Amino acid sequence: MEQPHEIRFKGLGVSEGIVIGQVLRMHDGARQVYHWRVNVADLEAERLRFRGAVQLARQQVVPINKQAEKRLGKDHSYIFDAHLLLLEDEKLTSDIEKQITDEQANAEWAVEVVGDRLLSLYSEIKDEYLRERGSDIEDVMQRLLVALSGVQPRHRHLSEDAVIVSQDLLPSAVAELDLEHARALATDTGGWTSHTAILARGIGIPAVVGLRDFYRRTRTGDKIIVDSTRNEVILHPSPGTLEHYQAETVSRMKRELASDAKESGPLLTEDGVEITLRANVEVPAEFEGVEKHGAHGVGLYRSEFLLARRGVIVSEQEQRLAYEEVARVAGKEGVIIRLFDLGGENLREQFQEPEKNPALGLRAIRFGLRNEEVMRTQVRAILVAAANGNLKIVLPMVADVSDVRRAKAIIQEEANSLAKAGRAFGDVSVGAMIEVPSAVFMADNIAKVVDFFELGTNDLVQYTLAVDRGNDEVADWFRTLHPAVLHSIDRSLKAAFRAGIPAIVCGEMASTPAYAVLLVGLGATDLSMTPSAIPRVRRALAGIDSREARTIAEECLSCETADDVEGIVRERFGKLWPHLFPPKSLPERRQTHSQGK
Ligand code: PEP
Ligand code: MG
Repeated sequence: MEQPHEIRFKGLGVSEGIVIGQVLRMHDGARQVYHWRVNVADLEAERLRFRGAVQLARQQVVPINKQAEKRLGKDHSYIFDAHLLLLEDEKLTSDIEKQITDEQANAEWAVEVVGDRLLSLYSEIKDEYLRERGSDIEDVMQRLLVALSGVQPRHRHLSEDAVIVSQDLLPSAVAELDLEHARALATDTGGWTSHTAILARGIGIPAVVGLRDFYRRTRTGDKIIVDSTRNEVILHPSPGTLEHYQAETVSRMKRELASDAKESGPLLTEDGVEITLRANVEVPAEFEGVEKHGAHGVGLYRSEFLLARRGVIVSEQEQRLAYEEVARVAGKEGVIIRLFDLGGENLREQFQEPEKNPALGLRAIRFGLRNEEVMRTQVRAILVAAANGNLKIVLPMVADVSDVRRAKAIIQEEANSLAKAGRAFGDVSVGAMIEVPSAVFMADNIAKVVDFFELGTNDLVQYTLAVDRGNDEVADWFRTLHPAVLHSIDRSLKAAFRAGIPAIVCGEMASTPAYAVLLVGLGATDLSMTPSAIPRVRRALAGIDSREARTIAEECLSCETADDVEGIVRERFGKLWPHLFPPKSLPERRQTHSQGK
């Protein structure tokens, strides 16, 4: 048989790494169901076949539920409790059986008809939370159909080097993945901030999203290379390409091992500047990486992940337990809890009516100030947890000092009422996320009213350049190294230094070694990133002289375009530190926007 030709697909690398593996196609829920007429004599057998499928589906969900609880925490695994309840629902199963009998229909068809009927009822419900349950029905129906087909879901038997290929991957599907074997993700849709991307980064599996027409072109078992560093996947790689990547993976592994070896202890640049590396975390699956990679505590806990898919605010008690747990993981260096960054693209549907312009809408601190009870509950939970651990609060997306003052007043009021009620609580310092241009312009003022800054470069790029960070159509314009972004970072850092407060850079920029060097050149000494990125950033920063980084950063600040900055980074880094930055690790030379990524 003729060897298929190598094809490269461009997407958006949202979780770093290179993996050589085999395609494992995963359906995202769309399905084709056929209808056939069952003889009256065979109806009982058809009903039994359906009951067997229900049984099988239940047997599958029970261990998944346990696994998800362990890896992602109760707040995510509850989805599977809901699935079990649906599978045990007498009314649902008897409706399907009735459909089989009345219509003399095959079980698949009956599942589809009853499921669709139920879904349409749910879609009309006004209550956001209940309406959201529709996706659980979809999930369960899909599982029943797979069970009826007599095959176990394929991902239960992952090969050693499975690359999950899907049109879109639901967070519940990521939760179900066997992370021992699932080595990478490649999806047609999705953006930088999708849950799937964030979880992939946190858990440390490479992912390329926004591949558009890729899923259709693959078959399970196809050879594939996922290279998120180049924003691409290679289907049917040629022997030459494979050889090249095998060599690269080996040297990467060696580099990672080398960096693992000198993981602990203070990180000093060659000229002796001490740099602190912290961890960004979202779900318990990432906690293990905090200590393993030698993070200096947790620099950013994206607390809104506590609410993911749940669609309800978690009680004060549950929140407190979650914060205490992450504080334990963080150890004496402590954890910075970001107040819920809801709205925008984060869990928007569950909490509010659709907005015309969500990224500019009732998001983050605005959501909290508008929904004060939500904010107060969270603040109380953090204050009480702070009695048993080192916790700080950071306010997401503040625009100016008025946002900070209002939030701080709420924090103070909650502390006062806890004191009055005689409840134990701890002091927390309060910082501001600097991630919108107005905060950059007003950074000197904001610095006077907070204890620290956190620079959220993901949003800073999005809002400075007016480029939606989740839209792969405009990913070419999402230029982290744009001079306007560098100036914003420079200005914010200087404001923090002038005020004598610490500044942590916690956007994804910090997790890319070359960018981290530039951040150090701009004066940053405190970076927070996904735990698995720490070893490579550590290795890069340990090998550079911060004075040289500063000279390069200054040169970049005088550039006119992102292309110019990237050109300087490529050239200077390549010359000064070729051992640390092989050409592949540096920004690619771009042609024109119209040529795509
Ligand atoms: C950022 O915006 O850079 C950030 C750290 O927060 P998030 O990615 O969660 O918006
Ligand atoms: Mg942000």
